[in-house]
Amino acid sequence: MKTEGVNLDIDIYKEIKIDSCPFCGGTGVLEEENGNGWYIICADCGSQTATFDFKKAEDRVEAAETAARIWNMGKVSKMGAGE
Ligand SMILES: [Zn+2]
Repeated sequence: MKTEGVNLDIDIYKEIKIDSCPFCGGTGVLEEENGNGWYIICADCGSQTATFDFKKAEDRVEAAETAARIWNMGKVSKMGAGE
């Protein structure tokens, strides 16, 4: 049975493919920030992407996909530099 409209309730955490950390090979974790943005952070070394904001529910998945794409391209800021 099909339903009309866009499914906004897909499981983002399962749908989106996140590569391992470009710096340490750790696990990249998708995190939602204040319900209006996404970023990806390495569970091991804390490196992270910029935050990709969304304003409408329809844009939520796309913003998460963008964060994942940026992470997978290696556009990640290394944390702890200079310490
Ligand atoms: Zn890492």
